[in-house]
Amino acid sequence: MRFNIITIFPEIFNSYFNESIIKRAQKNNLIKINIHNLRDWTKDKHKTVDDAPYGGGAGMVMKVDILYKALKTIVKNKKKTKIILFSAKGKKWNQQLAKKYSKFDSIIMVCGRYEGVDERILNFIDDEISIGDYVLTGGEIPAMTVVDSITRLLPGVLGNATSSKDESHSISGQLEYPQYTRPKIFTVGKKKYRVPKILLSGDHGKIAQWRNKKIKKQNNYLPPNTCAVKTNNSTSLSL
Ligand code: SAM
Repeated sequence: MRFNIITIFPEIFNSYFNESIIKRAQKNNLIKINIHNLRDWTKDKHKTVDDAPYGGGAGMVMKVDILYKALKTIVKNKKKTKIILFSAKGKKWNQQLAKKYSKFDSIIMVCGRYEGVDERILNFIDDEISIGDYVLTGGEIPAMTVVDSITRLLPGVLGNATSSKDESHSISGQLEYPQYTRPKIFTVGKKKYRVPKILLSGDHGKIAQWRNKKIKKQNNYLPPNTCAVKTNNSTSLSL
């Protein structure tokens, strides 16, 4: 999987992508991350990537022509590539989308800044993605979120011990059982917080039953092998 990130703040990624699972995935050639500085595609002395909005209003808007030039250089095989623009107005990122995107060979991400990007960029991207209903200063944190959530799903990245298939949201709307570690009894003042006895029993059958009971279902829970079908006013289940 190749991730290409277009940003005007390339240094932001140095720390996060050089630690832990993402660092190891790169070292093991399971992923390749290329960070591109959008200013490299400018021609003027000030390396301008933004301009004032037509119609007036606050802030600046990222220029479509510079972004287009960057995309044209970076996109190699359009068929196996998905191009994402980060936007607070976009489709909400979730585990199911992460799974879908993990099947592509290459993902290109455009990180917006200022008041956002000239709307004409939508002609050249596949998906507008939001990571939640709030406004961030730029698309860099969303890009890290997308890289991280996809990387965990790629074969060989986590290994068996921490398989992603048992984690929260691996089935839409299903949340993992509670986890505990030492000490058995955690004392704060007079209060004692105990690990559930069943987890200390060594009875793996019973532990599995307990964990199954503790798995939580969110409102949007869909049992495995079902999908949501949009009807006129509501969402119904189809098997
Ligand atoms: N004026 C825009 C609006 O009201 O929707 C917000 C622009 S925001 C300050 C700058 C950039 O941050 C956006 O272009 C986008 O790339 C990124 N961004 C902000 N919030 C985001 C979110 N929730 N999800 C994904 N990207 C976001």
